[in-house]
Amino acid sequence: MGKVIGIDLGTTNSVVAFMDRLEPKVIINEEGGRVTPSVVGFSKAGERFVGEIAKRQMLINPEATIHSVKRFIGKRYREAGRDIPLVNYEIVEGKSGDAAISVAGRLYTPQEISAFVLQKLKGSAEDFLGEPVTEAIITVPAHFNDRQRQATKDAGTIAGLNVLRIINEPTAAALAYLHDRKKNATIAVFDFGGGTFDISIVNINGDIGEVRATRGNNALGGADIDRALVDWLLEEFRQEHGVDVSGDRIVRQRLRDAAERGKIELSTAMETDIQLPFLTADASGPRHLQVALTRATFEMLVGPLLERTIEECRKVLQESGMGVKDIDEIVMVGGSSRIPRVKDLVKEFFGRPLNHAFNPDEVVAIGAAVQAGILEGEVKSVTLLDVTNLSLGIEVEGRRFAKLIPKNTTIPAQKVQLVSTVIDNQRAVKIHVLQGESALASENVSLGEFELVGLDAAARGSPRIEVKFAIDASGIVSVSARDGRGVHNQITIRAPTGLSKAEIEDARAEADAHQSRRDKASESTELRFTVEKQIVALETLIREHKAVLHKQDAAEAEQALKRGRMALAKSTDKGNLQDTSNYLKRFAAHLQEKLTAVHLG
Ligand code: AMP
Repeated sequence: MGKVIGIDLGTTNSVVAFMDRLEPKVIINEEGGRVTPSVVGFSKAGERFVGEIAKRQMLINPEATIHSVKRFIGKRYREAGRDIPLVNYEIVEGKSGDAAISVAGRLYTPQEISAFVLQKLKGSAEDFLGEPVTEAIITVPAHFNDRQRQATKDAGTIAGLNVLRIINEPTAAALAYLHDRKKNATIAVFDFGGGTFDISIVNINGDIGEVRATRGNNALGGADIDRALVDWLLEEFRQEHGVDVSGDRIVRQRLRDAAERGKIELSTAMETDIQLPFLTADASGPRHLQVALTRATFEMLVGPLLERTIEECRKVLQESGMGVKDIDEIVMVGGSSRIPRVKDLVKEFFGRPLNHAFNPDEVVAIGAAVQAGILEGEVKSVTLLDVTNLSLGIEVEGRRFAKLIPKNTTIPAQKVQLVSTVIDNQRAVKIHVLQGESALASENVSLGEFELVGLDAAARGSPRIEVKFAIDASGIVSVSARDGRGVHNQITIRAPTGLSKAEIEDARAEADAHQSRRDKASESTELRFTVEKQIVALETLIREHKAVLHKQDAAEAEQALKRGRMALAKSTDKGNLQDTSNYLKRFAAHLQEKLTAVHLG
């Protein structure tokens, strides 16, 4: 079995790590970075780029540069309303009502776009480790529901990865802590990233960690802070120039970029200048944006957003049945945890200094690698028990929601519920499975409707059907049923969610084909490079031995060089380049032999 890799598939950036004997290590990507932007760009010619190179085209081609796709994964279009204004590309309603991305003349599911990022990380790991990688652990925000988890797993499958486990990001950070420290403590993992906020309370007892409670908000992250700043910049610009530029996508992208840079600068400086020359132009000439943003103004603008993280901290403590005094350490995770005001708020709330021993950008991937080590059997002495983040239940009479497995139950978990018929000779029973906390069924996330059909005719209330609801260690839900005679009932899913098996297979085949086209393209690029080097080497050989070279050998060498140059000028065909390279190699060896003979003679 090859190595299992741990992947932090972030909204903004992704990181891949592995367990090197007992040491978790971050894998360096092709560009030499430890962090890969979760960005996929499409060129006009239909080429696809992932990572840093894709991020670079964001300003010039915002409609074809897909970032923050994690905000849409596993979501229905109608649930994505808040997220759509945060991106410049087109989000449309795809198959069965899911959010989809319309780019470069076709529709992509968020799973496919995420798969392109995963494929790149897989490739980096394979280059780094020098062996194929087929298995992975992927992290998700603790607050991801079943559909979002399943969709993330599907993204892995499309990328050619068997996803052994989905783990929660704060849980991964706690695992990194556990692996490193192995001491008794109760920690709070404060995870504030680009798109989401999570807070988990974890009890650590020697080698065993136990998540006590977790809460989060999938619509609270660095991008929301940037958005608040963009709104402010738009208003400043409108007041100074009397022009509203909010409708222009390129302008919005430039403002978002400048807002993020300003925000990051304010994590160390007290004031920053935001300058965007030629933001727009009208009959009176070009209009430039130039404003000074102080840390105080920044804190005033985004204060309410930051306060919401503390509100979640308060609630999670309540749910865990603990007080601030019970928390020994606070581990800060995610890029947005670097904001000084955030640090101050967290310090104030918990009344203690923060733990900065872990790199907030890498600790989640490191924890995922520790989990990989556990599943590989390499890391033996560490166990971390996680909990369900959302309550699981069914719709009951009066469109109400009945919880079967409440949130913060340790996983894996299962619950058997007996159901029966409500009228005589009823031949089918419908079960609507939901996740969430609201007492009203319609306010929770629908995971699907299951129909048990083929029941024997009987008086109402007499069939006893056992329905088993299970949540596995990845937080993924499954439902099965059998009747009182022990016969398994047929279950049909009435509202299929996400992608079908066949669709995942198709997407995977397409991703594979693209990869092999890319591999072929990069093989021919390699070969061209080899031929170029062979030409230079042959030219050098000829130049250095000009004096002793026979006329005929010199003529033959010129012919060989000509063939090499022709192949470079005319061909991208691998076969032809390979033949030319072989020929040049043979010719150079032959010439070298002759020259050696001349020298010896
Ligand atoms: P993550 O999802 O953990 O990669 O976090 C990415 C988010 O963190 C983005 O919104 C970044 O703008 C933000 N970020 C990164 N570094 C800083 C910093 N020094 N100060 C404020 N925000 C930051």
